[in-house]
Amino acid sequence: MIVLSEILEGSSNGWRETGGIKWRAEIQGGTLVIKVICPRCGRVGNLVRANHRTRVGFRIVHSASGWGCQFGWTQPEYDSLRSIYYSVRKRGRF
Ligand SMILES: [Zn+2]
Repeated sequence: MIVLSEILEGSSNGWRETGGIKWRAEIQGGTLVIKVICPRCGRVGNLVRANHRTRVGFRIVHSASGWGCQFGWTQPEYDSLRSIYYSVRKRGRF
């Protein structure tokens, strides 16, 4: 069982790993963000839910302009991204 404070403290020491994907949680401007090392392109990005109606899944946003990699539910990384996302989001009210 991981609590949010442990997630955040752990983030200063390095990266956690779930299903082979490295990630950590950070507070940026009062908002909790989940940083992951993208399993597709190797860049660091913010893990977010994909909002587009027809594309269920997650996005790893790599730039302020919103460019990033998309992971639909058919992709092998989806389950790991999902467990990372919910292990963080469930703990805090963000
Ligand atoms: Zn990527």
